Amino acid sequence: MKIICIGRNYLEHAKEMGKPITKDPIFFLKPDSSLIAKRQPFYFPNFSKNIHYEVELVYKIKKVGKSIDPVFSKDYYDKVGLGIDFTARDLQEKCKLNGHPWEIAKSFDQSALVSEDFLEVKSLKDLNFSLLKNGETVQKSNANQMIFSIDEIISYVSNFMTLKIGDLIFTGTPSGVGSVKIGDKLEGFINNESIFSLNIK
Ligand code: MG
Repeated sequence: MKIICIGRNYLEHAKEMGKPITKDPIFFLKPDSSLIAKRQPFYFPNFSKNIHYEVELVYKIKKVGKSIDPVFSKDYYDKVGLGIDFTARDLQEKCKLNGHPWEIAKSFDQSALVSEDFLEVKSLKDLNFSLLKNGETVQKSNANQMIFSIDEIISYVSNFMTLKIGDLIFTGTPSGVGSVKIGDKLEGFINNESIFSLNIK
C-alpha cells in the first residue's frame, strides 16, 4: 500500500506558502510506516521544532489501474476519509533551500493520520471539511475548491505509478496550516460529522 500526497491544491494555501500554482499536480509519497496506529496519539518527534498540521480529504483506491483516463477515474474510488499530512516545516524549509527530497520532512513515522471511517456519500466532490485545534476552527474548505479534482489527480498519478487497491490519496490542504505543540487536540470534520480526534503528546 502506498500513500500519495498532492501538494499545492488549494489557491489560498499556495498563497500562504508563497508558491505559484503549477500546470500539473505535484505529488510525493509517504510509506505505510508513516501511519499513526488506531487510537494512538501523535508523539512530538525530537528531530523537529516546528510540526505543522495539514488537514486533507483522503480517497481510497478500490481497483488496480494504470494510465486512467479522467472520464473513468470515478470507477477507482467510492469512499472518502479525512487525514492529516503532518509536516516538519523546519526540515522542509531546509530541504527546499538545498534542493533535497522531502522525505525527512513529510514521510517520517506518524506523519500520516487517516480517519478510521471512510464515508460513502452522494457527492464525493462537494464536501465540506474542517479541522479544529483545541476546539477552534483553524482550517475549513470544500472539495470543490481543489485546483485538481480527485479525477484529474487519479489520471495524472496513474500515468507514472500503477494504483493498487487500498492506496490512499491525500488531496492537498486548504489555507490555515499551523504548528502543534504537546497538549494540543485536533479534531477533523466532514460535513459537520466528527471523523477523527487526535492528541499531541
Ligand atoms: Mg499536504
